[in-house]
Amino acid sequence: MICGSCLCGRIKYQISGKVGDIVHCHCQSCQKAHGAAFSSVASVSDHHFKLTTENPLGCYASSEGKNRYFCLNCGTQIYAKRVATEHIILRLGSLDNDPQAKEKNHIWVSQKAPWYKLHSDLPCHQEFE
Ligand SMILES: [Zn+2]
Ligand SMILES: [Zn+2]
Repeated sequence: MICGSCLCGRIKYQISGKVGDIVHCHCQSCQKAHGAAFSSVASVSDHHFKLTTENPLGCYASSEGKNRYFCLNCGTQIYAKRVATEHIILRLGSLDNDPQAKEKNHIWVSQKAPWYKLHSDLPCHQEFE
C-alpha cells in the first residue's frame, strides 16, 4: 500500500492503485505553493485515493478551475485537482514510501527559478507538454 502524510501528521492518506508518471512542474504557482524550486506530481484516480484521517484539508484556487489542497495546520501540499476530472494530482513530497512510478518530464520550464540549474535527461517543456 502506498501511503502519505503531512508534516504534522493530521492528514494521512492511502493509495490502493497505480500512481501515474511523475512530472516535475516549474510553474510559478507551484514554486510559491511549495516554497521550492519545483513540485513533483503524479495523477492518481479518485477511486484509488483515500484520506484516512478526518481532519479537513484547506483549499486554495490558484487558477480558475484548479484547487490546491493542503494541511490547515502545517501547510503541507497534499494534492491539486481540476474541476470535473476524476483524478487528483498528488504532491509527491507528501508520500511516505516509494510510489513505484517513473519520471516523465519537466514542465513550465519557461517559469523556472533563475537560481536553479536544471540538469536532466528527461524531456523539458517550456509550458505544459
Ligand atoms: Zn499537517
Ligand atoms: Zn505547477
